[in-house]
Amino acid sequence: MDKLVIVVPAYNEEESLPKSLRILDNVLQELIHKNQVSVDSKIVVVNDGSRDLTWKIIEDNAKENSHISGINFSRNFGHQNAVIGGLTAARKYGDVFVTIDADLQDDVNAIPKMIEAYHQGYDVVYGARSARKTDTKFKRWTAEAFYALMNKIGVEMIPDAADFRLTSGRVVDELLSYKERNLFLRGIVPKIGFPSTVVYYERKERELGESKYPLKKMLGLAWDGITSFSIAPMHFVLALGLLTTLISFVMLVYTAIQYFIGHAIQGWSSIMVSIWFLGGIQLIGLSIIGEYLGKVFNETKGRPRFIIQDNLLSDDAK
Ligand code: UDP
Ligand code: MG
Repeated sequence: MDKLVIVVPAYNEEESLPKSLRILDNVLQELIHKNQVSVDSKIVVVNDGSRDLTWKIIEDNAKENSHISGINFSRNFGHQNAVIGGLTAARKYGDVFVTIDADLQDDVNAIPKMIEAYHQGYDVVYGARSARKTDTKFKRWTAEAFYALMNKIGVEMIPDAADFRLTSGRVVDELLSYKERNLFLRGIVPKIGFPSTVVYYERKERELGESKYPLKKMLGLAWDGITSFSIAPMHFVLALGLLTTLISFVMLVYTAIQYFIGHAIQGWSSIMVSIWFLGGIQLIGLSIIGEYLGKVFNETKGRPRFIIQDNLLSDDAK
């Protein structure tokens, strides 16, 4: 019987975690009861450097319930790294993995459906939102624009699927061989391949605590998604550069004509416009090159994506 590990990233989740763990434990017990997964299945909570009681809650739950375990990062490494850290630490304890946010905005009832699909032979089961009713207009609009843009620049993504998904052990093994620091899991998983399917669910509003993804972090993730998977922005700058050069030829002819007609002094406005226009384009071009250079800089250092301070999983094994 396959062992299921549910990986839960948690950052300052003291309000939501106790309830979420109860609910997840029920889901797990039911799956075990119905012989869908092994009795040795687990819930592994990754404490991503929380400043509140999150780790204490994890430790207490782990003491009381042998199905609950956790790892504790030495500081905050961010959601994507918490997911990959959890999968890395838990890989040898499971055969199939589900990742879900600690606030359980994603519907836990989709988990049994994912397991069912796994038993049918699917290695990856994406949880995708059937509707965005609970989102603000702004979030819905930006999400739509983001998926359209990603599609346009050639990054393959499952629409409306975030990081609630099932992955088989062999997919996790492949996922862990992607060593990039600038992680965008949603972009990597479809690249791994293997049979995959989608389970739809309705995403709820966060009940307890508040979002740990302010607009700035969201934009950061989107930007990582674009620049880690596509060099389309660089091509765009090249096209812009070519266009500008073309325009400057036109300007050359135009100024020559003006000179021979005797209107040369009028060139002041066109010079001013050109200076600003070219300066702007150069700055954009430089900054985009800088962005990629920065990514190369970060990747070549090969620093760890996360650092584990405490690991209850290895304590369990003792
Ligand atoms: N999270 C994390 N590290 C961070 C930020 C968030 O592990 O630096 C976790 C958080 O605890 C939650 C998940 O990532 O389990 C998603 O965060 P949240 O629910 O706040 O995002 P939202 O649903 O608002 O996009
Ligand atoms: Mg949430």
